Amino acid sequence: MKTRLTKKRQAILNVLKKQRTALSAAEVHALVPDVDLATVYRNLEHFTNEKVIKKLQLGTQEARFEFQHEPHHHAVCTECNRVIHFTAPDDRIKELLGIKEFQVDDLEVTVRGVCNHKK
Ligand SMILES: [Zn+2]
Ligand SMILES: [Zn+2]
Repeated sequence: MKTRLTKKRQAILNVLKKQRTALSAAEVHALVPDVDLATVYRNLEHFTNEKVIKKLQLGTQEARFEFQHEPHHHAVCTECNRVIHFTAPDDRIKELLGIKEFQVDDLEVTVRGVCNHKK
């Protein structure tokens, strides 16, 4: 079924497409202030269910949402909440993990730690 995108819905998606990073619902809301927060939440969940965007549980913070141009991984700083997006070839990761024969459908690495923000 093809859902027609309402203006608000499209505005929310455009924000995520433009930012190219993972945003919390509150951060999305700040960028589309004319859409109320409940609507932002509802649409983010909708896009997640439709697999248009990804819902990421990166740390102790609230979930963040991201429009992924290509599959990639994340390293998140637990002190300043900076998120680093990085790619790594699936084949290399499989090799390192010793699961070369495993057919991967979805592979996502989340690294938690502390970045160099103090330097
Ligand atoms: Zn940091
Ligand atoms: Zn990302």
